[in-house]
Amino acid sequence: MNNYQSLINSQTILFNSNFTKPITFRIAQLTKLKALLKNNEKDLYEAIYNDFKKSEFETYATELAILYAEINDALKNIKQWSKRKYVKTNLANLPALSYIIPEPLGVTLVIGAWNYPYQLSFGPVIAAMAAGNTIVLKPSELASHTSAIMAQLINTNFDANYFKVIEGGVTETTALLNLPWDKLFFTGSVPVGKIVYQAAAKHLTPVTLELGGKSPAIVTANCNLKETVKRLVWAKFLNAGQTCIAPDYVVVEASIHDAFIDAVKQQIADYNYSFENNNYVQIINTNNFNRLSALINNKQVVVGGNTDAAKRYIAPTVMDNVSWIDNIMKDEIFGPLLPIITYTNINEVIIHIKQRPKPLSCYVFTNDCKLQDKILTEISFGGGAVNDALMHISNSHLPFGGVGCSGMGNYHGEAGFKAFSHYKSILQKPFWLETNLKYPPYSTTKLNWIKKILE
Ligand code: NAD
Repeated sequence: MNNYQSLINSQTILFNSNFTKPITFRIAQLTKLKALLKNNEKDLYEAIYNDFKKSEFETYATELAILYAEINDALKNIKQWSKRKYVKTNLANLPALSYIIPEPLGVTLVIGAWNYPYQLSFGPVIAAMAAGNTIVLKPSELASHTSAIMAQLINTNFDANYFKVIEGGVTETTALLNLPWDKLFFTGSVPVGKIVYQAAAKHLTPVTLELGGKSPAIVTANCNLKETVKRLVWAKFLNAGQTCIAPDYVVVEASIHDAFIDAVKQQIADYNYSFENNNYVQIINTNNFNRLSALINNKQVVVGGNTDAAKRYIAPTVMDNVSWIDNIMKDEIFGPLLPIITYTNINEVIIHIKQRPKPLSCYVFTNDCKLQDKILTEISFGGGAVNDALMHISNSHLPFGGVGCSGMGNYHGEAGFKAFSHYKSILQKPFWLETNLKYPPYSTTKLNWIKKILE
């Protein structure tokens, strides 16, 4: 029996003892996790800076603040979320009570991605804790310092039978995926998502897959150009474009193309991105640096384009006059390269987007309400924003997740609680009334009554 098997066995014993189920236990664990993060912020900032030079400001704003808000939301609502929900009883079953009981799924595995290592690892963990599960967390090995600090903090402060961090890469994750979990929660790329889904199928394990894709931003002539560009440029180059819901490419209406490009150039200059200004990060590793560098077509570059392999630096780069069939339009970019496509007919844009895998996000910048509705109705995507980008992820009342190739299931707030719960439906009968209609011997009179009741 390998170590992982014995871990899952001991977590199963704890879970089956009902130890993790009381609301008081869940609240205590969430409170403990929050205090642990708060008391160790300095080490968390240092680790993430060592991984890819992410600053304290951005780490707080895009990772820790979201985690604290998720914990606070869970602490405030956990009693409500865990309550039995009473529903109507149909005539055929009266007299009876009908209700739904949320119950934890059991022993769960969370696999994290590196690009927002704290948020994407602990976010699902908070949901799993709130729902009363035991947890094994496997952070991404690509962000090795953050993986190490998460392992150190959790493994010295939590009982491994309840919550354990296992570090590692493909070998370790493959071994973990072979085990019969009660729930798998994966954040990462589409190809690895398919591996996870296949592994889960062997044990009929329920999965949530938070994947990626090419998320479009559509900019029409009647948008507020200044605000659009301010929000769009920020959303694209935050974390050097290494954000699953970053606008992957922009489709801009031809009549404002020149003004849009000028505004983007000015905005990038105004934000003054650099490591020294603590508002820009490194590309996570050499593989990704090389992949992104190869996508830069100097003939199309209107801003940036310069790179430094030793520093894993790629400047915020805008590529103009891009077509739907260019190399950069094939796969998710996941880096600081922004292709601009110009359009004259919005219907053609919609067709192009719909011919591709369903994106994780879609953004439309326009004051045209009819067009807003048209985009939201005609294009299928995980979630998004009108006249903004990225910020929908920060509202825990909005379930977050993809559709089709960008993922399945969702989380944040109550959606996260639901992702880690089973909803058990119960019909509760008293003994004091029995119509005998359903029991043999059957008769025409009984059948007529049943027809009246059931229809
Ligand atoms: P990745 O798929 O390479 O890695 C994710 C996790 O899977 C890591 O923990 C890694 O160790 C593990 N893994 C990698 N290869 C594996 C294999 N062959 N078998 C088993 N496990 C394996 O993704 P990444 O590079 O960490 O993240 C980038 C991708 O994740 C992008 O596509 C991005 O859009 C997506 N993403 C999605 C979200 C979301 O919330 N939807 C958030 C962040 C990132």
